[in-house]
Amino acid sequence: GSTLKIENLHVEIDGSEIIKGLDLEINGGEIHAIMGPNGTGKSTLASAIMGHPRYDITKGSVYLDGKDVLEMEVDERAHAGMFLAMQYPSEISGVTNSDFMRSAINANREEGDEISLMKFIRKMDNKMDELEIDQSFAQRYLNEGFSGGEKKRNEILQLLMLEPRLAILDEIDSGLDIDALKVVSKGINSVKGPEFGCLIITHYQRLLNYITPDKVHVMMQGRVVKSGGAELAERLENEGYDWIKAELGIED
Ligand code: ADP
Ligand code: MG
Ligand code: MG
Repeated sequence: GSTLKIENLHVEIDGSEIIKGLDLEINGGEIHAIMGPNGTGKSTLASAIMGHPRYDITKGSVYLDGKDVLEMEVDERAHAGMFLAMQYPSEISGVTNSDFMRSAINANREEGDEISLMKFIRKMDNKMDELEIDQSFAQRYLNEGFSGGEKKRNEILQLLMLEPRLAILDEIDSGLDIDALKVVSKGINSVKGPEFGCLIITHYQRLLNYITPDKVHVMMQGRVVKSGGAELAERLENEGYDWIKAELGIED
């Protein structure tokens, strides 16, 4: 798997600093969770790592396997095996789900090594079955008219199809009922392994009942303020964030 190393990251949006010196290291094959109250910069972190143009990185570094991610174009980041499932996936009219996924897979492959149509269809069929997604989804326009839960399932379908080395999943659990949550978790667990590293961003602990993280980080006010094992998420579920604020003398 790939190692992601973030050091002293500072990110601004429209001149105001949102990420304020964040450090995080994910070793190959590990699953990490970032938890934290709303508005602490979790989604900003995800977008900044993936190279969203609105986010200005003013200081710090992001390395993937020793390569400078911040020097890469957005498509080079995907090519390097990075994947982002966004909190609010966008709709793309006129592009079917199936076309989108096939292009995305081929964009990460060398010319002449494109996935064959037969292989692609077989793989997509299998993965859709696994995620209990109706076959009709393949021919629908990307995310158009999808419910919140369907968008999230579709993000996991992309994950299973693209097989990234490092995935960032931003609130992949939000808006899911318990059955969808189980299916989404099963999908993530099925790609778990030494070649797959994952950063799960979540506001709630419940997803972590199904996916056991190797490490849990708490983000507040633009920084990782506490890290621990899976038990940290349980404590947050029971006690909220106040004890951490008290421990660190953070006011809000
Ligand atoms: P979280 O994901 O932890 O809830 P966000 O990263 O979405 O937090 O937001 C962190 C802060 O940055 C918030 O104060 C939010 O209002 C601000 N912010 C996020 N995105 C934008 C944007 N595109 N333009 C202006 N402010 C933004
Ligand atoms: Mg939020
Ligand atoms: Mg967010």
